[in-house]
Amino acid sequence: MNTFLQPARRGLALVLAASLAAPTLARLPADVNGARIVHANQEPGNWMSHGRTYDEQRYSPLTQVNDRNVQQLGVAWTQKLDWDFGVEATPIVVDGVMYTTGAYSIVYAYDARTGQPLWKYDPEVPRDKGGEGCCSVVNRGVAVWEGKVYVGAFDGRLIALDARNGKPVWSVDTRLDKAKSYTITGAPRIVHGKVLIGNGGAEFGVRGYITAYDAKTGKQAWRFFTVPGDPAKPPEDEAMAMALRTWYGNGWVKWGGGGTVWDSMAYDPELNLLYIGVGNGSPFNYKFRSDGKGDNLFLSSIVALDADTGKYRWHYQTTPAEMWDYTATQHIILAELEIEGKKRKVLMQAPKNGFFYVLDRSNGQLLSAEKFVPVNWASHIDMSSGRPVKTGAADYLDGKGMKIVVPSFLGGHNWQPMSFHPGTGLVYLPAQETAAGLEPQQEPMFMPIRNVVNIGLDVPQLPEDPKVVKQIAESWKGRLLAWDPVAQKARWSVEYPTAWNGGTLATAGNLVFQGTADGRAVAYAADTGKLLWQAPVNSGAMAGPVTYTVGGEQYVTFMVGWGGSFPNITGPLSLNAKVKPESRVVTFKLGGSAQLPPPRHEAAVLPPLPPLKASEAELKIGRTMFNGLCANCHGLNAVSGGVVPDLRYLSPEKHGYFLGIVYGGRTERGMPSFAKGIGPEQVELIRQYIISRSHALKAELAAAAASAPAP
Ligand code: CA
Repeated sequence: MNTFLQPARRGLALVLAASLAAPTLARLPADVNGARIVHANQEPGNWMSHGRTYDEQRYSPLTQVNDRNVQQLGVAWTQKLDWDFGVEATPIVVDGVMYTTGAYSIVYAYDARTGQPLWKYDPEVPRDKGGEGCCSVVNRGVAVWEGKVYVGAFDGRLIALDARNGKPVWSVDTRLDKAKSYTITGAPRIVHGKVLIGNGGAEFGVRGYITAYDAKTGKQAWRFFTVPGDPAKPPEDEAMAMALRTWYGNGWVKWGGGGTVWDSMAYDPELNLLYIGVGNGSPFNYKFRSDGKGDNLFLSSIVALDADTGKYRWHYQTTPAEMWDYTATQHIILAELEIEGKKRKVLMQAPKNGFFYVLDRSNGQLLSAEKFVPVNWASHIDMSSGRPVKTGAADYLDGKGMKIVVPSFLGGHNWQPMSFHPGTGLVYLPAQETAAGLEPQQEPMFMPIRNVVNIGLDVPQLPEDPKVVKQIAESWKGRLLAWDPVAQKARWSVEYPTAWNGGTLATAGNLVFQGTADGRAVAYAADTGKLLWQAPVNSGAMAGPVTYTVGGEQYVTFMVGWGGSFPNITGPLSLNAKVKPESRVVTFKLGGSAQLPPPRHEAAVLPPLPPLKASEAELKIGRTMFNGLCANCHGLNAVSGGVVPDLRYLSPEKHGYFLGIVYGGRTERGMPSFAKGIGPEQVELIRQYIISRSHALKAELAAAAASAPAP
């Protein structure tokens, strides 16, 4: 904890001195309140809340860096983070101090001008907790309010820190049921002195909700549930009574229901409405969850709540009867658009399901919806009912086996934030084209247990043939779309070699900044899409970049670090990114001349392989078990995306105590114990499957070497 105490004093003195020298009054660190956020455009040098403004446009009015000089951007400073796992945080920058997070919800405070560490707070989330979430121990950043910094810790705590030194002031456990795998990866937002936070865990059998806590004390102010509880008990409120009428059977009571509020929120101060994005069903399998009947409110919905009381105002459900992991938790942007000659207060979202929605945010009325990527589950959205017209092509419950679902569970767009430029009128959307097969389990032979994703489906099957894998990987493209939300079409787009590229930042300098999966920071002209600047950042850059000023100079910061569900689960499909995990804050400025440390270059060498002893039939069982239990981190078919060790390279020594690793876990490296519910014979079948994959890799490498041209 707080290991930077010495530099903290020095750094803080520097910051205070700088602000004293400035014409404005010196402030305490993180002295942010609602008025400052509402009037954020009066101090464009700060980035005071997650999306910069309550409307979450991620647009900066700063123009010092612009389309004429962006080529002069160089590295101003860099700081390495503790863990080389995925980095998803949006930094908050207030009065010359940057507050950001890395893996395991560790909070870092830096002098935003020099990058000098001021303090660090490690909430000491148990290192083997990763198995209790779908997508690694990531965190999307902090909120600040009246001298405190707020972080949602992966283990479900919401913690308030003193912004001066990073010492905890209060901490609350946000979990409804401590026996279940509730996690937090999202960034809190703060409205009217209340800290708002939801949870993750819909792949692990939880019930979703969002809670408001008093920013001063941590006392709970209100909680809004997103799916009904046990129908044998009275519903919590009228909204839950309404929602309950859209659920059938009682499967969801056993398996949680899902609907977690794990990322997006936006706030309209005039309407005093808080908008939340609600996640997928738990389990995915709609038959087990709700007897295959009903819309299942408020899954996959955008819900408007009274910001002070948490009371329901309206909802729009993007995917009724959700069964494809089609969360509506993706970034929500509020803006004013002129539609058919009328100014409208709109809400925009591009959720996983592949449609771009524009709603009237005063009442939830659908104004338009069009596909922004290929989609096969629905043909279009019927404008009179506001409902999708389903094609049946993705209906894996029709008794005809596995279905290819487009977009896949990774979504046409995931958590990577988009941005809106009021000047161009365009939304800069990090989209992706993915598809995956889903197949239902015949019986609900699963229980929500820790460390194992339980969704009522067989794990997506990925062929092992490297040629086929290569073909699929090449079809999983990333795209930056400059989306016109009025015309509902792309004005320009950029194609990337792989999915999972970064969030975007739009600026008044006619620029769009983005990090890329293949390890670059890039800037395009916001109006034309022309590539104006790029610089290496050594690792996949997924988070939304920010820009700010200190001492009259403009900076642009990228949080860099590869990870999350794409490289972890679908490891074999992520290798076109060609990056290693290396987590770092990288800040640029005009004429910056600091050095980015050279990238990691460790070549993997296949060790001597143990002999394969299992039969084909046994390997089939081993593969099913590996893909069910291990693939969520180590990658499908034992091919890692590079963030977690590739088990095909396991040393003979580790093969010798493999059972010990599986049963004991490797807590200090992030691996939980799998001692429960799996016998030594089964562990040996998993090991044999890994050995078979090592031998396949060896043959593949030999063939590649033989066909390579002579030097
Ligand atoms: Ca999910």
